[in-house]
Amino acid sequence: MSTIDLHQVRVTDSLFGGYIQLLAEKVLPYQWQVLSDQLPGNAKTYCVENFRIAAGQKQGGHGGAIFQDTDLYKWLEAVAYCIAAGYRDELEPLADQVVELLAAAQCEDGYLNTYITIEHPDRRWANLTEGHELYGAGHLIEAAVAYYQATGKRALLDVGIRFADLIDRVFGEEEGKCHGYPGHQEIELALVRLYRVTQEKRYLSLARYFISERGKAPNYLMQERARNHPFPFEIFPEFMEYDELYAQTHQPPVHQTTAEGHAVRALYMYSAMAELAIYSEDDALRNACRKLYENIVERRMYITGGVGSSGKLERFTTDYDLPNDTMYCESCASVALMMFGQRMAELTGEATYYDTVERALMNTVLAGISAGGDRYFYVNPLEVWPANCLASTSMSHVKPVRQPWFPCACCPPNIARTLASVGQYIYSVQSGAVCGNQFISSTFRHAFGNADFALELKSSYMRDGCVTLKATLSGDARIRLKVRVPGYMQHASFTLNGRRDQPEKEQGYTCWTLENAGTYTIDIRAEVRPVFVAANLHVRADAGKAAVSKGPFVYCFEETDNGANLANLPIRTDAPLTETAPLEQLPGELPTLETDGERIVQSIEQTESLYGQAAFKTEKQRLKAIPYFQWCNRKPGEMTVFLPVSR
Ligand SMILES: [Zn+2]
Repeated sequence: MSTIDLHQVRVTDSLFGGYIQLLAEKVLPYQWQVLSDQLPGNAKTYCVENFRIAAGQKQGGHGGAIFQDTDLYKWLEAVAYCIAAGYRDELEPLADQVVELLAAAQCEDGYLNTYITIEHPDRRWANLTEGHELYGAGHLIEAAVAYYQATGKRALLDVGIRFADLIDRVFGEEEGKCHGYPGHQEIELALVRLYRVTQEKRYLSLARYFISERGKAPNYLMQERARNHPFPFEIFPEFMEYDELYAQTHQPPVHQTTAEGHAVRALYMYSAMAELAIYSEDDALRNACRKLYENIVERRMYITGGVGSSGKLERFTTDYDLPNDTMYCESCASVALMMFGQRMAELTGEATYYDTVERALMNTVLAGISAGGDRYFYVNPLEVWPANCLASTSMSHVKPVRQPWFPCACCPPNIARTLASVGQYIYSVQSGAVCGNQFISSTFRHAFGNADFALELKSSYMRDGCVTLKATLSGDARIRLKVRVPGYMQHASFTLNGRRDQPEKEQGYTCWTLENAGTYTIDIRAEVRPVFVAANLHVRADAGKAAVSKGPFVYCFEETDNGANLANLPIRTDAPLTETAPLEQLPGELPTLETDGERIVQSIEQTESLYGQAAFKTEKQRLKAIPYFQWCNRKPGEMTVFLPVSR
């Protein structure tokens, strides 16, 4: 199985096609204004300016976060995907100028990192724990591969290759090379991407080295920290509490069985491990990936596909620890979870991994960006009491409204590149087979030898449970069409060219074999009902509570529809959930849901004092839920996914 060329996909879905258009026309120009310090009223980011200084085009010191070169790289990667989607004229001229700037900022020997080049040119690779140089290289390489694939232009790919070659000369097992590895993983999966496009095996070996060296004793990063004081770094004060789990160096990755430490670091690494397992056919690595994946989705993932239960250090904690209000659930972590799920599907050929890709995409990743495209969540709570989100408290990381930008701005361009490349999560290709992994309306073309395969996918399952696939095969070929029919599509029935059909099942996919040139129309009819969902009883934070979902979308309750103090609104899981009109001016045309619930009202004794005799009275209240990702697009206020259940 392999990922596809995004030129082959056109996303026509009103929700995701709408986002791609919004990205190309509004979001990416907005982000460029921010990164190049042209947005009036926004705090200076220094992002583009740092490259100008490193390139010798301007004088000055480095400004902003030490890793923010990556904001521009991810922006460029998103631009590449929008170019592949047809927005060439709008975006390519500016992108070419950015590529020229990056090439000018690159050192003679291939090194590229504006912070080190401007501030500490003699201290390259001296602080791998915090320095983010390899992390930055990874995002540069990802952008380089994407831009080459989108435009056919090699300039940025060559910049990426020069840097990868330098890293290959510096790092490795061999004597005389640095035996370090990145504090923040990312380079590993980028090197595999670079291998895929160049077929240069050194990049694959280097990626494998970074994974296999990690976690060996003595611990390189811990030794480096001991060696580093005093140094111009310590960069991050919170790293005073740095431990081996934080950066997944507590064991060799192949022996790790539980998701630990910083969620984004962890998931970028697991993604690389899954990809390396594809190429190495390493059973131990494959088993490690499977165990880590199962630990996440069965014990450590929110219903929204969010991960990272601890606001402090943005990390995984223990099984079933899923607090709804103090969590982290970084947008980037769910982007990374999508990447891991996609690579697990590629590794195993099994459709089930796309359930997690879908959960993360449709809920946390989409929630990270406003309907207008210019406001973002970094942290994605499942429960918010805005007045309680105070600075310098345990809630200071939770913002009750989306922000125009962040001092550490990893998430906005990460969401942009993910939504711009959503086509890669819809389709994949195996030898002689096309897999439809998400029912997102779109078209797809692929050539199998001399035969052209074209697919038109029309999906309205959230409205009426229907999906239609029209496949056209020109030329002689035997093609398997494999479709993931998600579990929430109940009682699915199928017709092929108007005749009732009972297709085969294979690795979680529903499959058809197309053997002759012609057009094949497949209709799927199913029931997609709104349901109440409860968490496993071990999840203390959700004890006695239920959430509401329909299809892949988790719903939430907002103050603007239900009044304040949402914690006192019990729902009845035996009451019907009624579908009501979509919210106007919000993307997706998705139904809102209503149900009969209650409001707990205070007895007189309780209103007089903070505590009093327990006496609960309730009044009937109609409750309204909207798709979680749409929250905070109207009035700011309280929001919750889970409500107590009335018994
Ligand atoms: Zn982020």
